[in-house]
Amino acid sequence: MVRRILLIDDDIEFRASLASALTALGHDVKEVGSAKDADFALLQQRPDLVVVDGLLPDATGIDWIARRRRVGDDTRMAFVSAFWRDPGSHARLREELGVSLIVHKPLDVSSLASELDALFGSALQLTERVRDVLSTLRMQYGAKLPGRLADAERLIADARLRGTRDALDAAISIAHRLRGTAGSYGFTGVSSAFGRIEESLRGVVTSGECPPPEGPQGTLWHDVDVALAEARDGVVTAPRRLDMGALAGSPPGRVLVVDDDPDFLRLVGTIATRSAIDVIPATTVDEALAIASVLPIDGAIVDVDLGGQPSFALVRQLRFLPRHEQLPVAFVSANSSLQTRAAAAHAGAIRFLSKPVELDSVLDLAGELVSLSRRNRPRVLVVDDDDDFAEHVVALLGAASIDTKTVHDADTALESMDTFRPDLVLADIFLPKITGLDLCRTIRLTPRWDEVPIVLATGRGDRETLVAAFAAGCDDYLTKPVLPEELLTRVRVRLDRAHLMRRASEIDPTTGLMIRRAFARQLNAAIQEARRHGRPLTLALIDLDRFKQVNDEQGHMAGDRVLEGIGALMRRSFRVYDIMGRWGGEELIVVLPGESPKVGAGVVERLLAEVRDLPFEGERGTFHVSFTAGIASCPDDGDTLEALVSVADERLYMGKRSGRNRVIQPESTSDED
Ligand code: GH3
Ligand code: MG
Ligand code: MG
Repeated sequence: MVRRILLIDDDIEFRASLASALTALGHDVKEVGSAKDADFALLQQRPDLVVVDGLLPDATGIDWIARRRRVGDDTRMAFVSAFWRDPGSHARLREELGVSLIVHKPLDVSSLASELDALFGSALQLTERVRDVLSTLRMQYGAKLPGRLADAERLIADARLRGTRDALDAAISIAHRLRGTAGSYGFTGVSSAFGRIEESLRGVVTSGECPPPEGPQGTLWHDVDVALAEARDGVVTAPRRLDMGALAGSPPGRVLVVDDDPDFLRLVGTIATRSAIDVIPATTVDEALAIASVLPIDGAIVDVDLGGQPSFALVRQLRFLPRHEQLPVAFVSANSSLQTRAAAAHAGAIRFLSKPVELDSVLDLAGELVSLSRRNRPRVLVVDDDDDFAEHVVALLGAASIDTKTVHDADTALESMDTFRPDLVLADIFLPKITGLDLCRTIRLTPRWDEVPIVLATGRGDRETLVAAFAAGCDDYLTKPVLPEELLTRVRVRLDRAHLMRRASEIDPTTGLMIRRAFARQLNAAIQEARRHGRPLTLALIDLDRFKQVNDEQGHMAGDRVLEGIGALMRRSFRVYDIMGRWGGEELIVVLPGESPKVGAGVVERLLAEVRDLPFEGERGTFHVSFTAGIASCPDDGDTLEALVSVADERLYMGKRSGRNRVIQPESTSDED
C-alpha cells in the first residue's frame, strides 16, 4: 500500500537518499528543509508519516513536534537525529509527544527506510508493548533504587574516610554503573548526578591519594555531596506510571484451535488457566482464517473432521498468510486410519492426536507448537556483570520477540556460543577478568562464530574507546545509558542483516529450499538424532520427469517457474522440522524425521498428486508436470547420508524405468507396476 511520507531535514543529501530508499519501497515521499516549509506542506496534504530531523534551521525537531501536537495534529511521527541522545528527551518524545520511532544518526539509510516502512505494519503494536514493558521495568527498578543508592553512599563515605585507591575505585565503579543503568531505566536525574560523582571521584584519584578536608579536593567532595543529594531527589521524583498488566519479557504463546465440537473447545479453553498459552477457539474455516490474519499465532490445532469443511486446505491457507509459511500445526481426529494420518503429515502436521484427547496431551501439544514457532526466534547473548542493566535489556528484547540469555563474564559467554548459539552478542566492554574487547577478538578468531554480529555497550562513548571497539571486530556500539529505541533498532538491524546473509548463502533462490551443503548438514544432525532415540527417518529423492523436454518445448523460463512452484508447494506441505533441499538441477530431496517409510511414501504420493494438478504457463500454453521419487529409510536402508541417498537413487531409477510419475517405496517390487 502506498503511504505518503513527509521528510523534514535540512541535510539535502541525507534527505534525498532516504527519499529514494522510501520511494523504492513504494511510498510517496515529499521533502522539505525547514519547520516553516513543513507547516506549509501539512496545510496542503496530510501524510501518513512525518520524519523529523532533530535540528532544523528554524526550530528544533522536538519543539516543532510539540507545536504540532498542541494544535491537535496526531500524525504518526518518527524522529531522526544526531542530537538529543539523552534519556530525558527520549522520555518526552515517547511519552508526551507520542513519537513512534526514535533513531540516531549515523544509521545507514536503507536500514532506516525499512524501519520506517515497518512502522506501517506490526511495529506499531511492538512500540506499544515496548512502552508498557518500559514503564513496568522502570517501576521495578525504582523500587530497588533506594537500596542501590544506599550502597553507593556507603562506598563513597568509605572512600572519603580511607582515601585509599581501592576504596576510591570501588566508589567510582558503582557511580559509573549507576550512571549507565539508572539512565537506561529513565531515571535521568540520578544518572546525571552519578555522572558528576564519577567525574569528581576521578578528580580525587588524579590529585593524590590522601584527600585533605580543605583545598581543591574539599571542593570535589563538596560536589559529590551536592550530586548525592540530587540523586536522592531523582529517586523521589522518578516517573511512576503504574501498569501492572504489562508483562515484562516474552509475550505468552498463542495457539489457534479449530473445531466444531463444543466439548473439545471447552476442554482446550481450560489450557489458558493452566499455562501461559492463550487458546483462541474457532469453529469454522473462515473464522480461523480471519483470526489468523489479524492476530500473530504460534501454532494451530485443527480437527480433521470440521463438519465437512476442508481442514487440510485450511492449514494450507493458513500457511499462505504472511509470516505463517512455517506455522506449526497439529490435527485431532476421531478417525485415525493410515490415510488420514498420512494426509495430516502431508498437510504439515507435527502431531496427530486421536479423540478422545486427554487435557494433558493437548497441553503438551500446545507447548510444543509454541516452542517450535519460537525455535526460529532470534537469540541474543547478553554479556554484562550488572544484573540491573541485563534485566532491562532482556525485557526490552523480549518485548520485541527476541530470546535472550544473560551471562556475567566473557568465559561463560564463550561457553554459551556453542550451547545457546546466539544470532547476536551484546556485550559490555567493562567486564570482570576478560574485557568485552577481548571477548570480541576471540569470537572473531573462531571460524564458526565469525559471522555472529557483536554489539558492544560502553559507558564511555569517547573516540578511543570506539576505535578500540571497531578494531576488535565489533559491528556496532551503544553508549550507556542506553536508549530503548536505539537498542532495539540497532539490534534488529544487525539481526536482520545477519539473517539475510545466512539465507542468501544457504537457500536456493529458485526453489526456496536449502542448497545441498546446508541440507546435508541438517540431514546429518537428524540422522544422529534418530539413531540416538531409536526413531525411524524417511528420505525421498525426487526427480522431475522429462524435464529436459519441458525446457525444450516450453522454454527454460517456464522450467524455472516449475521449480519455483514445486518449491513453494513443498515449503507449505511439510512439517516445520522436515528438511527440504535442492539436491541438484531438477532433483529435490525431503527428509521426514520420525516417520516410517510407509507414511513417508504416502506423504510424497500426495505431493505428487498435487504437483500433477499444478498448471504452468509456457511458450506453448498451459502444461503439467510430474515427478518420480525413490524412498529410503533409516535404519533399514542404512544410517548415513550416502547410504540413504544411494538407495533412494536406486529406487528412483527403478521408478523411471517402470514408467515415471510414481513413488517407489522399499517393499514395492515391479509387480506393483
Ligand atoms: P527424466 O525423466 O529421465 O529425469 O528426464 P529428464 O529430462 O528430466 O532428465 P535429464 O537429467 O536428462 O535432464 C534434466 C534437465 O533438467 C536438464 C536441465 O536442463 C534441466 N534443469 C536442471 N536445472 C534446471 C534449472 O534450474 N532450470 C531449468 N529450467 N532447467 C533445469
Ligand atoms: Mg535428473
Ligand atoms: Mg528428470
